[in-house]
Amino acid sequence: MSISLETPKKFALLVNQAHQVATEVFRPISRKYDQAEHEYPKELDMLAALIDGMNDGGEGGTGARGVRRDTSQDGDNKGANRNGTNMSSVLSIMEACWGDVAMVLSMPRQGLGDAAIASVANDEQLERFGRLWASMAITEPGFGSDSSKVTTTAVRDGDDYIINGEKIFVTAGGRSDAVVVWATLDKSKGRAAIKSFVVPKDTPGCEVERLEHKLGIRASDTATLRFTDCRIPAANMLGSPDIEDDNGSSGFAGVMQTFDNTRPLVAGMAVGVARAALDEIEDLLTEAGVEVDYDRPAYTQHAAAAAYLQMEADWEAAYLLTLESTWMADNRKPNSLQASMAKAKAGRTAVDITLRCVELAGSFGYSENSLLEKWARDSKILDIFEGTQQIQQLIVARRLLNKTSAELK
Ligand SMILES: Cc1cc2nc3c(=O)[nH]c(=O)nc-3n(C[C@H](O)[C@H](O)[C@H](O)COP(=O)(O)OP(=O)(O)OC[C@H]3O[C@@H](n4cnc5c(N)ncnc54)[C@H](O)[C@@H]3O)c2cc1C
Repeated sequence: MSISLETPKKFALLVNQAHQVATEVFRPISRKYDQAEHEYPKELDMLAALIDGMNDGGEGGTGARGVRRDTSQDGDNKGANRNGTNMSSVLSIMEACWGDVAMVLSMPRQGLGDAAIASVANDEQLERFGRLWASMAITEPGFGSDSSKVTTTAVRDGDDYIINGEKIFVTAGGRSDAVVVWATLDKSKGRAAIKSFVVPKDTPGCEVERLEHKLGIRASDTATLRFTDCRIPAANMLGSPDIEDDNGSSGFAGVMQTFDNTRPLVAGMAVGVARAALDEIEDLLTEAGVEVDYDRPAYTQHAAAAAYLQMEADWEAAYLLTLESTWMADNRKPNSLQASMAKAKAGRTAVDITLRCVELAGSFGYSENSLLEKWARDSKILDIFEGTQQIQQLIVARRLLNKTSAELK
């Protein structure tokens, strides 16, 4: 089965629309909301309604909800080679992040919790939660990378679960309607007892404690949430309530699967912001009379042109890995390895490219006269959340060497 490297024709309109939104909506307000940290970009409301309309209009889910692995369209999918909603989500997110990553992370009903719900909710849950803005709360004061260390508890009480614990660094945690909380049913049972629960934010006992001040993506709110005897219906648990043997760990594997769909999205964000910096530096090089010649070896060209060619090659690799992992998700192929490769490469590349572009543009790049300095700040998070650079490399190494998480850590 082959992979075509062109943007699928059926997504051309969507990609074009996302680019227009990035140019006409995000870029003009980008600096304003970077400076007004914690202020909600109200301009996003109308856009979010438009995306809702597209989702409701039977276009199969786009944005965060596009990550649902649809099993209804083509039977067992044997021999199929299709680009579906994962691809349309990633392509449109790339374009939107060419405009502003923080705006994309602030988009109502496009949270990582929405992607988790779209990925693993059953049809009844999708009906109840599919229209909410959901953030995703995994990280706690006691851990970040090692998500098997969850200490937030979920205790069954009749038809309910009672949640207790603290979650930190929750993107859109202040603004979202609901939060997908990772909690353990039984700390003694290890990772197999970790489940995710949809907690509506207006549930008594669910409290937003504070918002972070950050290096980048300042238009996106990052919250600390506290859950104190927070009672939710048992039917709000995503996935199976069974606790498998810790050795089997299939319960945990279920929640981890969400990442196979969301890591390509984050890789797409990184590809988008890196492209923005490349396009900006290309214009500056042209203005300065530096020509980039694709037909001559880099070492025969102006040093800035050679740097540009090197960055473009890196960008292309990140872009193609992102498309590959997304295409695999659309075709229901196991893509953990490729999703981590894409996330690692794209996260690192975005950080390198945006910072290098600041360097090439000199004082102009460092000043607030351009968005280059902002993109250099915004890109760093893409190499941290949804699994850091080092964690992605660890996952890739485990897969390639056929080692378990206990054997290689
Ligand atoms: C702006 C922002 C938004 C966020 N949004 C969310 C969100 O919406 N939901 C959520 O749950 N979390 C969120 N996070 C948290 C984020 O996912 C964590 O910060 C991330 O997982 C890393 O965890 P940590 O910060 O505790 O770092 P640590 O896990 O303490 O890691 C510190 C360093 O050690 C490295 N490291 C750790 N383990 C290993 C290892 N085994 N081998 C080699 N190196 C290792 C890491 O790569 C990192 O460089 C957000 C964070 C930020 C800053």
